[in-house]
Amino acid sequence: MSHRISRRRLLGIGVAGASGAILSAAGLTYLLRDPGGEVIVIDEADPAARPRVYVATAATPSPTTPPTPRPGFEPRPAWTSQLLAQVAHSGPTDQPLVGLTIDDGWTARDEVLAVLKDRKVRPTFFLTGRAIANDRDFIARALDGGCEIANHTMDHAWLVDKSKAYIQKDLQDFEDLVRSKVPDATTVPYMRPSGGAINQTVIDASAELGYRPILWNASTGDGSTSTTPEQMVRNALAAGPGAILITHFSGRTVAALPGIIDGLRAKGLEPVSLTALFQGSKPG
Ligand SMILES: [Zn+2]
Repeated sequence: MSHRISRRRLLGIGVAGASGAILSAAGLTYLLRDPGGEVIVIDEADPAARPRVYVATAATPSPTTPPTPRPGFEPRPAWTSQLLAQVAHSGPTDQPLVGLTIDDGWTARDEVLAVLKDRKVRPTFFLTGRAIANDRDFIARALDGGCEIANHTMDHAWLVDKSKAYIQKDLQDFEDLVRSKVPDATTVPYMRPSGGAINQTVIDASAELGYRPILWNASTGDGSTSTTPEQMVRNALAAGPGAILITHFSGRTVAALPGIIDGLRAKGLEPVSLTALFQGSKPG
């Protein structure tokens, strides 16, 4: 008694099965050792028959689509050391994109994240280690939410009166924290000094570690505590194509974000991460 197993069926099993899967069909039991690999066929109608082994490796592999990079883990711009040493205030202006950056993380972290998820926006968070000291798992939640995490240093110190060694440790400590929470994540190549305070030492120290200082050319103006959410929306909507917009984690930003996002979209501008901004890619 002979049974033939067709190539199509082997392929079908290879696609459907997981390692060690057992499938039954037409009196036959198929034991699949590896998807697409060795298949043992047992003829249930003839218990004395020897199990037959088919090796499916000769099967034509089905076409595969390249994996979509996980949001927050897309390939970053490959900047030369020369470009790393050029402070960025904006991105390319030939795409209708605005780099949305949200800083610090002292308060309202998950509330901000909820608004972003609701409106399918994946910005860049310049988190600082000190602000999230009691909620370091926010790093994983933010990445899970598709957001990008950039380096706003561990201690949020005023860097312009610090040594190169201090600045590099402050950056590296935060990078290490991010990696300790999500091993395949990185904050490279985006750093932002506390208060936007920058000098040549900050630039050189950052560039040596692969970071480009990222400032901004559009702001909600929330650095002033008297700025209302309505004013924040108006300020943000002054952003044009290629702008880098800054705001901070706070209840006011939670209140302003829907108006900012909807307002930018009404102007034909999509708020995106720095990686999407600098790569000119469309939001997914
Ligand atoms: Zn800050």
